[in-house]
Amino acid sequence: MSVDINHILQEEFISENLDYNRLDGYVNANYLITAENSKYIFKTYPYSKSMATIVSAENNALLHLQETASDNFPKPISFKDASYIKHLKSDEEEYLIRKLSYLEGELLGGVQHDHKLLRSLGRFLAKMDLKLQGFNSYVYQARQFEWDIQYVHLNQKYINDIPLAKNRKLVQYFFQQYNEHVRPSLPLLRKQIIHNDANEWNVLTQNGEVSGIIDFGDMTYSLLINELAVAITYACYDKENPIEWAAVIIQAYHELLPLTETELSVLYYLIAARLCISVCNSAHSSKVNPDNSYISVSEKPAWSMLEYWLSIGPIKAENAFRKAIGLEDISTPSVDRVVNKRAKHISSSYSLSYDEPIHMVKSAFQYMYDAKGNSFLDAYNNIPHVGHCHPKVVEAGQRQMAMLNTNTRYLYNQLAEYAERLQSKYPSSLNKIYFVNSGSAATDLALRMAKFHTGYNNVMVMELGYHGNTQSSMEVSDYKFDNPKGDGIKDHIIKTDIPDTYKGKYAEHNNPGQLYASDAIAQIQNCHSPIAAFIAEPIVGCAGQVPLAPGYLKEIYPVIRKQGGVCISDEVQTGFGRVGHHFWGYEAHDVVPDIVIMGKPIANGHPMGAIICTEEIATSFEKSVEFFSSFGGNPISCAIASAVLDVIEEEQLQENAKAVGDYYISRLRGLADKYNCIGDVRGMGLFIGVELVINNSKQPNTKLAKHIKNSLRNKNILISTDGRYDNILKSKPALCFNKSNVDKVVDSIEELLSNYKQ
Ligand code: PMP
Repeated sequence: MSVDINHILQEEFISENLDYNRLDGYVNANYLITAENSKYIFKTYPYSKSMATIVSAENNALLHLQETASDNFPKPISFKDASYIKHLKSDEEEYLIRKLSYLEGELLGGVQHDHKLLRSLGRFLAKMDLKLQGFNSYVYQARQFEWDIQYVHLNQKYINDIPLAKNRKLVQYFFQQYNEHVRPSLPLLRKQIIHNDANEWNVLTQNGEVSGIIDFGDMTYSLLINELAVAITYACYDKENPIEWAAVIIQAYHELLPLTETELSVLYYLIAARLCISVCNSAHSSKVNPDNSYISVSEKPAWSMLEYWLSIGPIKAENAFRKAIGLEDISTPSVDRVVNKRAKHISSSYSLSYDEPIHMVKSAFQYMYDAKGNSFLDAYNNIPHVGHCHPKVVEAGQRQMAMLNTNTRYLYNQLAEYAERLQSKYPSSLNKIYFVNSGSAATDLALRMAKFHTGYNNVMVMELGYHGNTQSSMEVSDYKFDNPKGDGIKDHIIKTDIPDTYKGKYAEHNNPGQLYASDAIAQIQNCHSPIAAFIAEPIVGCAGQVPLAPGYLKEIYPVIRKQGGVCISDEVQTGFGRVGHHFWGYEAHDVVPDIVIMGKPIANGHPMGAIICTEEIATSFEKSVEFFSSFGGNPISCAIASAVLDVIEEEQLQENAKAVGDYYISRLRGLADKYNCIGDVRGMGLFIGVELVINNSKQPNTKLAKHIKNSLRNKNILISTDGRYDNILKSKPALCFNKSNVDKVVDSIEELLSNYKQ
């Protein structure tokens, strides 16, 4: 809008010798008028009825704030005709203009921050909000707009303007968390008219204290606590420890205007929501107006604070806010009590991780939070494949759960749609899919199908392989049956050596894959009756992430098939892009199995398993008794699994697993060069094992592995140990793990190794 400012100024200030400058601003043209004896702000607004209503309400608010004799707030100055707001019209344009007093001071964004300054911010806002309690306006009560956190959902329409999927998911996560944690408390939260935009470029300071506030354009009737949420967001988003600074503001505010526990309980989510509003609007504005740099001024610190917010978690934040006003931490039972309660009805067959078990209450992407508010970097759990509580996955489940859940005896679209998508990740020879509810059930079914199809009973299994907890999957799991407490090997099982290229009998040879394979082939040929199935994981997880030697499967598969058996690849651990270089682990071995077992990551933790097999096997199996699973393939599972595939694709998680996994492995190999207790670093993508040994000897160093696992836990990092001697560190994080997460894990391991005394 081009306002004829010269003309207006001449009319209004004719006698004064003046100068004017246009000010930076979001949209409107505003001017600083410097006259001989005074300064004014001259504001213009494109005219609309609603703008006129809002500007007039704002004028009333500013007049109200003047009543208590204050020069902390801009004062409306009337025009020569005594009006505060003028509506000007020409043939081409229509606008509103007004004059305000100019407030002296330096902007909060332009000065060094210290506790005294932020304390004064808290006090200033409390005083202002107390004054505003005496002001009411139906215009503000009716106002609904994007920058009011209580209407955060109005920003949903901008999410797709955020260019990166990994950023979009953060916003989606916090929108969803708002619905879960703030919405139910809305009726309990105080509302009044608030300034609603105490950002660092609207707050004025003088002599190290806050002295004024400008720009009442976002004023509205909202949650009182939103005043603080906004102020904290902008005062703290560029700080190293935002929580500490937030506490200073909260404490000072609370001294004058006491806050409630409920208000503090939602503050974490409100701050996150405000950050999301900011990044949504920046993304949208940069899309429609790529040249205006002012609109994205807060974008970078907002993204880093969102990342930081995630790494802190809501409980730690709430406890810090509570402490600021003298309240105890949120009460939580001791870990011992939780352990004892569990032991009442839950058998000790269910083991607990770590010397000091963790009482988990919440999680987000690569973080898990315990009841005390500790936040753990999860470098271990591979089931939440695309990240804990990924909003797209949660939404898919919630939506479908509220719509329809039934079984495969009815027609519903989700089953065929998901099956089609899943099949598209496989070669065409694998094209019939069966859904169950766990990896174990999938193994069970795969074995049943193999036996029915071939008419044979024997199964060849891998040393230290693990395929599930059902009777028949235990029978093919050496890791379980060969355990001192295990049932031992059954007659129909042929166990073959793990083709380990680090240790094992052919580890020192040039072509271990072929040598291990020839031994296995000899076993097949010496078998008294044919083998129905050969089952193996491409990287044997429970053995300690041991990749099958290159070339091994390519030798074995044809021999198994030739004597009438089928080849099963268990991709429960390695599938869905985890190995980075491939979508399925078997692809690294240049083979195609006849049956593939899927589980864990398929639905990000929702209980689901599946197998895919050849048409031929499926056709045989049709002659068996009918297959039915009450839950397998239900619409909720399919909707969730489909969302998992969406996220893997949108966030390019396979590519991330490759890049971050390669980096992880190279950093660990760097450690192995320095520390002779690291015998081997292996794996692929984000499926990694570190074998700990006694001084280069290949002798297992179980004690060190246990020490590192538990010490990392005490440094708030989750990994695990495995292998026959429990001496292999295992890391298989969510595929959104990033390089700085890797640095944190590897640096922490290095610190432990450098301080470790045998
Ligand atoms: N196969 C492999 C390779 C596994 O790691 C597991 C679980 N650890 C299973 C099968 C069994 O899956 P579930 O626990 O879902 O039954």
